[in-house]
Amino acid sequence: MANIKTVGLTKRFGANTVVDEVDLEIRDGEFIVLLGPSGCGKTTVLRMIAGLEQIDGGQLMFDGNVMNSEPPDRRNVGMVFQNYALYPHMTVEKNLSFGLESAKRNGSRSEAKQGVRRKVEQISKLLDIEHLLNHRPKQLSGGQRQRVALGRALIRQPSVFLMDEPLSNLDANLREKVRMELARLHERLAITTIFVTHDQVEALTLADRVVVMNGGRVLQVGTPKEIYDIPADSFVAHFIGTPGMNLWTLPFSSLGGGGIGTGGSVALVGELADVLCRVSGTVTVGVRPEHLEPFGAVQDPGVLVDFRVEMVEHLGSRQLAYGVLADGGTHAAVVQFDARFPCRRGDRLELASPAEHVHLFSADGGRRISNLKLGRDGAAVRA
Ligand code: ATP
Repeated sequence: MANIKTVGLTKRFGANTVVDEVDLEIRDGEFIVLLGPSGCGKTTVLRMIAGLEQIDGGQLMFDGNVMNSEPPDRRNVGMVFQNYALYPHMTVEKNLSFGLESAKRNGSRSEAKQGVRRKVEQISKLLDIEHLLNHRPKQLSGGQRQRVALGRALIRQPSVFLMDEPLSNLDANLREKVRMELARLHERLAITTIFVTHDQVEALTLADRVVVMNGGRVLQVGTPKEIYDIPADSFVAHFIGTPGMNLWTLPFSSLGGGGIGTGGSVALVGELADVLCRVSGTVTVGVRPEHLEPFGAVQDPGVLVDFRVEMVEHLGSRQLAYGVLADGGTHAAVVQFDARFPCRRGDRLELASPAEHVHLFSADGGRRISNLKLGRDGAAVRA
């Protein structure tokens, strides 16, 4: 096992800086997910950690030792990729044991052979692929192939496990199944793991902590709950959640005497209006679709929203109402209701949300300006 630290980790391709001063501290045995849109630099960070990509700036450390120039085979990392990269002409058993061939060459031949066989047995049992040892990759399902790929990385007992979108070639059901298997495996083996994905469900379900990246930079590092409840900026707020957080950038010009700041169809109430007083002018207000409710259902609202429904999407137990802020209609909005809530195209609804679910971001740059923290019971509260 190993802890990993990067300080100012940087990678350039020509004039293009694709990883820009990334600082990370990954604890021994932690499951870290690098999450971000395509092209944000996740794979490049992973490849630098693996030693497959030269580091152009900053430092990479394993257990306090600088690894920048260490060749890949001296880093003791196991890698699993999206496309499995199994040897098609070899059986599963051979695919698993191939990486141990070099070890076999040292010491007594029969002893080494036995050792390899034992390890293949252990790993195939762990991953439930014992019955497939004589099969070739083309005879396996996607999930089975991915398990063989995991086994091949695990058999070398890596101190660090690096996974690059390992589930993306699987269909939705299988992805869920293998995801759960991965979580169980990590619980048992506790190998420091860095997992790259652009799928937020994978990130939020697997990670001890999520690193959200965009444009080569780290925007936020936090537990799945922190990332969801207290996004550091408007990019993270919108990127996390399905659909993402509503973000309305509005000029809050008039402040009523009762502590209400108004900007078109959105009114901030109480403490939030006070925050607005301090910053004044144009502000981005963020509320998740699942945190907006009919006005009468919210005891202590932090925001009031005037919403016009344009389309309703039924999703079994819930429904999504897509529409606009009623005043002007230029700001899109989406609201999640229980399936039983009567809601139709053309409806105009007064909605509200409690203050702990309302986020204020600067209109310029999107940084958070309203303070929230996670309370003792895990719920977000105003700091
Ligand atoms: P994806 O989810 O699509 O795999 P990513 O977040 O993993 O994306 P990277 O693969 O790390 O992103 O790529 C980051 C940026 O670096 C992209 O703009 C990509 O085009 C660029 N890039 C990656 N490898 C090279 C290379 N060998 N030469 C030039 N540019 C590269």
